[in-house]
Amino acid sequence: VDPTEQRVVEEIAGRRDELVALASELIAFDTTARHPEDPPRQEAELQGYLAERLARRGAAVDVWEPAPEDVAGTRQVVPGLGFEGRPQLAATFTGAGGGRSLLLNGHIDVVTPEPVDRWTSDPWRAEVRDGNLHGRGACDMKGGVACMTFAAEVLAQLGVRLAGDVVVCTVTDEESSGAGGIAAVRHGVRADAGIVTEPTGFDVWVACRGSLTPVIRVEGRPGHAEMRQPHWRAGGAVNAIEKMGVLLDAVRRLRDEWLTRPDKQHPYLAPGTIVPVVVRGGEWEITYPAACSLTCELMYLPANADADGWGTLVEAELREWIAAAAAADPWLREHPPTIDFGQDIPPSEVPPDHPLIAVMAGASADVGEPTRLGGLDSWYDAASFTRLGGTPCIGYGPRDIAWGHTIDEYVPVEDLVRCAQGLALAAMRWCGVADGGR
Ligand SMILES: [Zn+2]
Repeated sequence: VDPTEQRVVEEIAGRRDELVALASELIAFDTTARHPEDPPRQEAELQGYLAERLARRGAAVDVWEPAPEDVAGTRQVVPGLGFEGRPQLAATFTGAGGGRSLLLNGHIDVVTPEPVDRWTSDPWRAEVRDGNLHGRGACDMKGGVACMTFAAEVLAQLGVRLAGDVVVCTVTDEESSGAGGIAAVRHGVRADAGIVTEPTGFDVWVACRGSLTPVIRVEGRPGHAEMRQPHWRAGGAVNAIEKMGVLLDAVRRLRDEWLTRPDKQHPYLAPGTIVPVVVRGGEWEITYPAACSLTCELMYLPANADADGWGTLVEAELREWIAAAAAADPWLREHPPTIDFGQDIPPSEVPPDHPLIAVMAGASADVGEPTRLGGLDSWYDAASFTRLGGTPCIGYGPRDIAWGHTIDEYVPVEDLVRCAQGLALAAMRWCGVADGGR
């Protein structure tokens, strides 16, 4: 066993209360994810708190408020989105030179804790019960942010000088659009490789799916719902909700087809899919509905992206599929449905033989958490750094994403300790320990 590594691992274990206190401090800041027009909450306070801590340990700290232009020109972020009161942070521990650099990234926004009255304890006041730290964001992902911050702090405090730089980067807006991560990439935050400390359950995530949110609209023809109606060609009413039923069935058939179609399969991800999530239709109880809309959540794989990494090919496939279903219905053939696609959140993957994966897996096993390769069926900021910033990023963090976004969300304290240990070892092995750093 390498004595320097041993010292780092023991130091983190011995200071577990400090690690829990850090996670608890982060949970106490209200950083609830926003709708685009919402005012800021305590994002600036949280970033300021981390900036002050990291600067004290010798990092060169950059805290900045991106401009709307900084995230413009993607299919991912709504135009004009601003960052007033929502700064991003990048803190660089400069290496001695000659080593590979490492990005450690996490998001500071959390989903709303509502309904708060169903929590056992206040979601903003972290509480340890039965060895688990409870609070909004405990696992997704202020716990992971605490781990990566603490790992970097302990290395600095012990005087373990790495050869390569370690960049600690915390961003906003992951839960809504990924805008904070994109802003960080556009700001120049990068490294030779990166780790996003989402709650992977000590798996190493190498991929995530992308998503589209198509809204399908059909029109009917209003008329008195209690009266006999002539055929629509003779001026009779047409029920838009029933016409949407035709397309709802088409969506279900497409999902079934994708479930087994070879181009919709991935070794670490669920197949591509499309799920109806919102339906709206009708105007009045005694009127045939004139309009109906169906919103779907569509998930697509890295292999389904276009040459630029976006979902245009999947959009085209859905358009064709819906058009074919509509063509089989006389009304819909003459009154074709429309489809609007909103945000396009692009998928991402890194090759399973990327050298950081073996480093991370080895470090995790050495702190008692054997790891498997995996992927995130949803999306996370690793995609932006990997696709847009030239920083191949994996995911690695504590248990468990299944507890994210839940009432009484929690993370095991023991997992925080092992995650911080694993990250510290991975940083030492990836970046290299400089001579004289022991
Ligand atoms: Zn997350």
